[in-house]
Amino acid sequence: MSETIEKVKCLIIGSGPAGYTAAIYASRANMYPVLYQGTQPGGQLTTTNDVENFPGYPEGITGPEMMMQLQEQAKRFGSDIRDGWVTKVDFSGDIHKVWVNETTEIHCETVIISTGASAKYLGLPSEQKYLQLGGGVSACAVCDGFFYRNQEVVIVGAGDSACEEAHYLSKLCKKVTMLVRRDAFRASRIMEARVRNTENIEILLNTNTVEVLGDGQVVTGVKAKNNTSGEEIEIPATGFFVAIGHKPNTDIFKDYLNLDETGYIINTPGSSKTNIDGVFVSGDAADHVYRQAVTAAGTGCMAALDAERYLAAKEG
Ligand code: NDP
Repeated sequence: MSETIEKVKCLIIGSGPAGYTAAIYASRANMYPVLYQGTQPGGQLTTTNDVENFPGYPEGITGPEMMMQLQEQAKRFGSDIRDGWVTKVDFSGDIHKVWVNETTEIHCETVIISTGASAKYLGLPSEQKYLQLGGGVSACAVCDGFFYRNQEVVIVGAGDSACEEAHYLSKLCKKVTMLVRRDAFRASRIMEARVRNTENIEILLNTNTVEVLGDGQVVTGVKAKNNTSGEEIEIPATGFFVAIGHKPNTDIFKDYLNLDETGYIINTPGSSKTNIDGVFVSGDAADHVYRQAVTAAGTGCMAALDAERYLAAKEG
């Protein structure tokens, strides 16, 4: 049973660059947005060290610092930023209902979904340790590859993302070793051919990661095992990239919104509109292609503008 019912013009779910940018635009348009941050305020960028590719930061900035700044900017124009986890929605009527922490019920004229996606990891304790330490484990080559210039790195995965990221890394790094768990790629032939034809990418088929090796602070190598011969090897590397897919955080919307087979929300091309009037999507929850902070921010802006126009049309 809900304890309270609150009415809001614009509810934003999620707090990465998409959500905060939507909040900046919505608050400046007098939509009095309320933003729920979720369990990881700041989103995926809070697990990145230095962000060097977001325009406007010539010296770079850390992910958490950038998220704090975006939050401050949203608050400056009156966005109501709250802690809380959206647990349920009901988009069946004109007024969209959202429940926070199971108890608070909110009735919304518009909803902007910015719940993002989570990179999948192998789950090895050594991988998680160096990920938490910021010591050389990454799920984003475009974000972090630059820090491994002229060094040797290992990448796990054999889909289009892994191939694209391995190829990206091969242009920066001395050597890229790609660990593929089966005897075949999942990637499209053209992407597979590209990595196979790149001189400084070594592909190890039928190979699993056993352990990420390190000195307690940073990654120094990877222990891998051939799952047909049983042979174990140690590969020297300063970076360990995981490219085994992402999971969009969209489970709570599946009864109402059109999702693709992986769970990404399907938006109307060129806009942030979903199949439900008044519900908009921004950021990685609808984007398996670009997945960058700057593109997420751009779609956050689009969602706020689309929501504003929707309200204006409704109010006549
Ligand atoms: P995919 O699900 O396509 O591929 C995941 C890869 O990771 C597979 O090779 C899988 O192996 C491997 N993997 C999964 N779990 C493990 C594990 N525990 N240990 C080792 N390997 C593992 O994800 P992607 O992110 O690559 O792609 C997602 C979607 O986005 C796809 O539809 C893809 O086509 C698309 N995409 C398109 C691009 C483009 O067109 N430019 C670029 C990037 C993505 P296995 O094959 O054995 O299951």
